[in-house]
Amino acid sequence: MPETTGAAPGALACLPGTLRLPARVHFGHGSRALLPEVVALHGRRVFAVVDPFLATTPHITAVLDALTGAGLDVRTYTSVTPELPVGTLDSAAVQAREYGAEVVLAIGGGSALDAAKLIALLCVHEGPPERYYGENLVPGPVVPVVAVPTTAGTGSEVTPVAVVSDPGRELKVGVSSPFLVPAAAVVDPDLTLGAPRGVTAFSGIDALVHAAESYTARPLPADWSGTPPVFTGRNALTEPVALQAAGRLGPWLPVAVREPVGRHARHEVALGALLAGIAFGSTGTHLCHALQYPIGALTKTPHGLGTGLLLPYVLDALRADADVAVRVAAFGAALEHLPAEDASALRTVMRVAELNEAIGVPATLAELGIERDQLADIAELGLRSARLLAIAPLEPSRELLLDILGRAHAGILDGTDSHRKRTVV
Ligand code: NAD
Repeated sequence: MPETTGAAPGALACLPGTLRLPARVHFGHGSRALLPEVVALHGRRVFAVVDPFLATTPHITAVLDALTGAGLDVRTYTSVTPELPVGTLDSAAVQAREYGAEVVLAIGGGSALDAAKLIALLCVHEGPPERYYGENLVPGPVVPVVAVPTTAGTGSEVTPVAVVSDPGRELKVGVSSPFLVPAAAVVDPDLTLGAPRGVTAFSGIDALVHAAESYTARPLPADWSGTPPVFTGRNALTEPVALQAAGRLGPWLPVAVREPVGRHARHEVALGALLAGIAFGSTGTHLCHALQYPIGALTKTPHGLGTGLLLPYVLDALRADADVAVRVAAFGAALEHLPAEDASALRTVMRVAELNEAIGVPATLAELGIERDQLADIAELGLRSARLLAIAPLEPSRELLLDILGRAHAGILDGTDSHRKRTVV
């Protein structure tokens, strides 16, 4: 094994690092007040892609009014559909081009942010969007995007990827390119206040999955002689960020779900999600995401519900490798703010399962209506996510995927036959 892989937590050895981020990231209650200034840095003709359910809420209308009050010309587009069907993008891009958009403002959850990124792409580069599916296929800069998330989860405001669902394909697909990293991110936790429990829980647990998969990803060997891959696997610059994310989300996500208007919990969860986005935006994610894409397509359930459900089972599987198990334990220590000597990989697995239970993430794939005889097809489809599996910390064989799916279907953790065993050793 090369020297850059398998290092114990903290011992970074020769692990290299890559970070690609917006030039400006502002975080904090009330930070949306900066938007007129931040948006004006990029142009005066603003194409605002806004989540349709939020467009008429007081916070968002005040944001849009402040932009026009500052002398900016704003065209608002609200035809954003959750999980982003690709067919909706071309006509939106035509509208943005005809309007002469100089900057795209994105306000909403991951669906609105990803829509904005792809509209910004299609304003400059010829469609259809399918041309850009995959990694590093965007030929150059896009219209600058200022991203303002209203969910605490996807991290899309800082990442180089936009995910769409394409009816012509069985799986969701991504466009991944450093050119899709927004020019600026303004993350104001107030915009998540009052979001319903399901939205808070599923977007928040997705953020925890981002942190966990970023921290446990296999590092790709660095080759500085050509264009680096968009996603590097675990890297030296993101490791501490992923742990910080876990430390925010672990204690505070259940509180934010329980108390939707609690400002402190919203602050912590929004910060955790942003940090997780910063981490996985450079490293990528792996097994939970590879398996969620077919599961989401089959069950039409929210993205975070699927990734969150799978997380304890994936972490449990990772315990099979001693080096990776050490990382799983370190992740759990950060999650629970534990001294390292009290942490173990198994404890991490059980803590994540408890967290899921506390916030209402279903415990098994059976609860999503998936039949046991569908698992082989899901594994087969999961194997197609080559980019994600390339940084899986264990050899991503069909057998491994089937094993994870089988246990997630039946609710078996801890490598034993006991269903959702909760004893921590
Ligand atoms: P979403 O954007 O699909 O929104 C889900 C629902 O929540 C919508 O009905 C929306 O109207 C509502 N909503 C959003 N903010 C709200 C608020 N403050 N109050 C009340 N309701 C609110 O959900 P999401 O989880 O943010 O995003 C999921 C999408 O993001 C998926 O398509 C997923 O594939 C993608 N994703 C992208 C990245 C990335 O880096 N680009 C990462 C992870 C996931």
